[in-house]
Amino acid sequence: MIPSHTKHHLDLNFYVKAVLLLTVIFALNANRALATVKENKQIAGSQSTKPLKKVIDPEKFSGQIAAGYKAAQDAANICSKLFCYCGCDLTDEHLSLLDCFTSMHGVDCAICQEEAIIARDLNKQGKSLAFIQQTIDEHFSSQYPWDEASPALEQYFRSIKVQSKKVRTKYSANNSNSKKMDSKRHCCGH
Ligand SMILES: [Zn+2]
Repeated sequence: MIPSHTKHHLDLNFYVKAVLLLTVIFALNANRALATVKENKQIAGSQSTKPLKKVIDPEKFSGQIAAGYKAAQDAANICSKLFCYCGCDLTDEHLSLLDCFTSMHGVDCAICQEEAIIARDLNKQGKSLAFIQQTIDEHFSSQYPWDEASPALEQYFRSIKVQSKKVRTKYSANNSNSKKMDSKRHCCGH
């Protein structure tokens, strides 16, 4: 039989070991959590690894609508880096042209459809993203229904390498005195 003072000593020893083990496990877990946070930050930092939302199947539509959805499907990556000037940035909280085609929004919007088709065709011709962005901006920015650039448009401007002079003049900082946008206006006659 173990004398009671030895037993007590053993118990204490076990307790100390258990606490040490728990501390090690906790430290390991904390380390792993930190590694995961770092990993996630890396993913957020690199655009290419971010999965794109799926474009609605073009077969569901016909004519120009199907052509628009097909173009967005063919050039989804390009569309995700283009801005849609139909006004859906404020009416539908869209961040890029791709958002118009991962939803039913692109069905009744000629601006969205045309932008996607032009972007896909230019991409097929081997034009650079910067060139496609500039072409779309110069072609469609005049159709933008709001008087001031929305946060989404500002974010887009910050993301592009070359901003066309025409577009820059329209939304330059000294334009901030222009009248506030009319929230009753909707894009594509919605
Ligand atoms: Zn749109």
